[in-house]
Amino acid sequence: MRTYVNSNGAVVLTDTIVADGHVPGLLARVVTHVHSDHIAQLRRSIREAAFLLATPLTHDLLSAMGYTVPFSKRVEASYHTRLRIEDYVVELHPANHVPGAAQVTVELPGGERVGYTGDFKLPGTEILQDLDVLVIDATYGFEEWQRPWQEEVEYLLADIVNDELTRGGVAIYGYNGKQEEVMLLLRRMGVSAPFIVPRRRLRVIEVLRRHGFELGEVFVEGSAEAFEARRSGWFVEFRHYNEWKRRRGNGSTRMAHVLLTGWEFRAPYRSVGSREWVVSFSDHADFRQLVEYVSEARPRLLVVDAARGGAAAAFFARYASEKLGVRAVAQPLGV
Ligand SMILES: [Zn+2]
Repeated sequence: MRTYVNSNGAVVLTDTIVADGHVPGLLARVVTHVHSDHIAQLRRSIREAAFLLATPLTHDLLSAMGYTVPFSKRVEASYHTRLRIEDYVVELHPANHVPGAAQVTVELPGGERVGYTGDFKLPGTEILQDLDVLVIDATYGFEEWQRPWQEEVEYLLADIVNDELTRGGVAIYGYNGKQEEVMLLLRRMGVSAPFIVPRRRLRVIEVLRRHGFELGEVFVEGSAEAFEARRSGWFVEFRHYNEWKRRRGNGSTRMAHVLLTGWEFRAPYRSVGSREWVVSFSDHADFRQLVEYVSEARPRLLVVDAARGGAAAAFFARYASEKLGVRAVAQPLGV
């Protein structure tokens, strides 16, 4: 049995079943979620693999993003449905990350079980147990990368948004995927102001609605409805993370600006100007949550993904071996 992460970030679960990357000769590719570092070389896998396996939501998001998976190759796997692919049994498990995200386990003919967390945070992620090999994402694998408020920050973010909406519009800056996660979370927390989104996000929004998510009023940037909402001063708009630098341009000084970043470890939120906030909000486990996951999962071998985690993955593998008593390696080596 050979489970490893290669230098391109492909998580090779068995000889022929690979997650979130491409290797020549693969039989099936599992897509844990739609973030760009997990769909590298996807078009090549679509051509060469016999099966593309993902949750129904992830499949629909991929097609909204322009990926065409032929019907004969498209395998929709709901959580906890055991699928037989040749001699293997593949199963997806819930992950709290972006909409549609999953973890994956594979049972081999000899009875061994291997798994991969994909990206995740706690709570809301099933902890995979009784595995011979577990590949884990450790984006925040250094011990000082802790956000002790992670479990409460959703409420703090909703409070900031609600409070700022009493004074005018609010712009939220975050990466794709995180934006959608935050839209759903604000609706859950009772924020009912219309959302304004760039036109290119509309297909993704439509997919989420089709899958039963409640998004309330969503207007496209530049539409008459968006114009009206802006005039009323009661709206939440979503912008890409990279636009934060330009937040003070063009008449947007009357709005509140909220940046979402996982790289803020000092405080759950801080004010950086008049109606300007940086909120420590991530969709990855912090160091504490990684420790919690591994302490409960206790795989016989832990493989920490260094293709994405870099030096933090190497640190976390050492920590797991020395402090948690779980045999661990970071892969690929030397990252
Ligand atoms: Zn991700």
